Amino acid sequence: MRFSFAMCAFSWIAVAAAVVVVAVCALTRADTLTQSMLTVTNRSQPSWYGEFNSPYYTKSHEDFRAKVRAFVDSAIAPYVHEWDESKTIPLEIYRATYAAGILPAVVGKPWPSDLVPDCPAPENFDYFHELIVFDEFARCGSGGVLWGLLEGINIGLPPVLNFGSEELRRRVGVPCLRGEKIICLAITEPYAGSDVANIRCEAKLDPSGRFFTVTGEKKWITNGIWADYFTCAVRTGGEGMGGISLLVIERSMPGVECKRMDCMGVW
Ligand SMILES: Cc1cc2nc3c(=O)[nH]c(=O)nc-3n(C[C@H](O)[C@H](O)[C@H](O)COP(=O)(O)OP(=O)(O)OC[C@H]3O[C@@H](n4cnc5c(N)ncnc54)[C@H](O)[C@@H]3O)c2cc1C
Repeated sequence: MRFSFAMCAFSWIAVAAAVVVVAVCALTRADTLTQSMLTVTNRSQPSWYGEFNSPYYTKSHEDFRAKVRAFVDSAIAPYVHEWDESKTIPLEIYRATYAAGILPAVVGKPWPSDLVPDCPAPENFDYFHELIVFDEFARCGSGGVLWGLLEGINIGLPPVLNFGSEELRRRVGVPCLRGEKIICLAITEPYAGSDVANIRCEAKLDPSGRFFTVTGEKKWITNGIWADYFTCAVRTGGEGMGGISLLVIERSMPGVECKRMDCMGVW
């Protein structure tokens, strides 16, 4: 009798336990599914749009992101395949990126208001606005388009804006910021990549003291194939890091030759 009771009690406990296990499994699976769906949804958005807080992003960044995303969705994404195939971005897209109030954001803080007074900065413009531009343009899915449109100016123009003469800032800065001309940064050479201190490209001042004659070659230059201006590392002094200067070389200057490298992913 005691045995039967024990058996009976055991069966009920077993049934109850089984029900609990099934229920927990179902709930856990549902929970896992919900979480993974949430994760998938959230991963296409910045984490601070979800449950994470950020001390850096403000409403100004949120508004700017919405503007950049709308631009990429309408003016970039539909044409990416075409541009990837032809390895060319029409110049009017650079202009449109300026007209949308985006292009000057990629040269960093401060917003170059003196050079583009008709293009208003986002409120409290900072480096997070710049980051947002790259974040959103990357959604187009093409490294070639992303780099072709934004990278040359991103690395090539800041040295001019921050260290160039006022005349150079205006002559080169204004058309590049407005998307009318293209600039790139030319540091790397076939024989000097990481080892920048040992670049060979040489610039010699002529006896008049007004003109440099530059001799050398550069390689792997993003946007180089289209650039109007090359912010170029050249050796003006002795050996090593201390002998290097930056010169802006214009494509129209005599003796400048460019040829396209066939690269994978970026062009
Ligand atoms: C897609 C693309 C775009 C580029 N765009 C530009 C551009 O716009 N402008 C421009 O000037 N350059 C550009 N570059 C060139 C880029 O800056 C160089 O590739 C980079 O500096 C590395 O040089 P390298 O390729 O000659 O490699 P190397 O310098 O030969 O290095 C090869 C490897 O050795 C390692 N290494 C090198 N030196 C040392 C050391 N002392 N100690 C330990 N490890 C070391 C490196 O980390 C690397 O893993 C671009 C390159 C690529 C691939």
